Amino acid sequence: MELGIKGKRALVCASSKGLGRGCAEALAEAGAELILNARGAEALEATAAHIRSTYGVTVTTVAADITTPDGRARVLEAAGSVDILVTNAGGPPPGSWQDWNRDAFIAALDANMLTPVALIQALVPGMMERGWGRVVNITSQSVKSPIPVLGLSNSARAGLTGFVAGTSRQVAGQGVTINNLLPGIHATDRAESLDGGVAKAQNITIEQARENRQATIPAGRYGTAAEFGAACAFLCSVHAGFIVGQNILLDGGAVNATL
Ligand code: NAP
Repeated sequence: MELGIKGKRALVCASSKGLGRGCAEALAEAGAELILNARGAEALEATAAHIRSTYGVTVTTVAADITTPDGRARVLEAAGSVDILVTNAGGPPPGSWQDWNRDAFIAALDANMLTPVALIQALVPGMMERGWGRVVNITSQSVKSPIPVLGLSNSARAGLTGFVAGTSRQVAGQGVTINNLLPGIHATDRAESLDGGVAKAQNITIEQARENRQATIPAGRYGTAAEFGAACAFLCSVHAGFIVGQNILLDGGAVNATL
């Protein structure tokens, strides 16, 4: 399917690896020009080089922490006017509800709620003026079904979800859609590190931890960054203009719910 976004400018945050990279590659395949971001320059440059040579699109890179005001300012300056925004950042660490203090909550809110809000506030007005725009926030399955050890994620992402629910309906009339993609478990470094934590806590191997988790997923496997990216690219396409303020779960059926 032709997605109709050739030549559109797309900022994909936290995109040297994992789900962000999957989104960047799918947008590049559809012909979008990219601005990519991550903290580590080496992996970022390697990803950018791969995308340029594979898809023939322009890729600008900004090595910066997207969760800091300075990092965001540098990314926004390099990005200029943007048609497509994919927000993403690392997820909060696992832990126990009794241990999280105010500083832990503020850090999680900064990374997984207030950073996407700030990027939306910076870039959506320009999209509205131009009469077209797409925002996709990478959130989590934890929005629909809380993950006990990821209470910081459960909390911060619920806040972003509320902001998007209200805001998306105020900008849709100017041709701008804002939606959230909710990953269940996908095979990325983040999943590897979460499985490593489970293996340690339960005194089992990481392979056993992965097998145990896969057994809880109706699809019987982890998702891939490429599948996730394809869903993101569709939401950013000309065909998705009537999808507004939705929370779309990509979880292999793991959340057992009718709606
Ligand atoms: P990942 O494989 O660890 O990749 C994270 C990417 O984000 C890397 O490119 C990393 O590069 C970059 N990054 C992290 N923190 C950043 C920051 N502060 N500023 C700029 N770039 C940053 O993670 P993932 O699995 O793709 O997960 C992406 C998001 O989806 C996370 O919020 C995660 O919690 C959420 N999620 C993932 C899953 C899953 O199963 N994978 C499930 C539910 C939710 P640098 O380290 O170099 O900055």
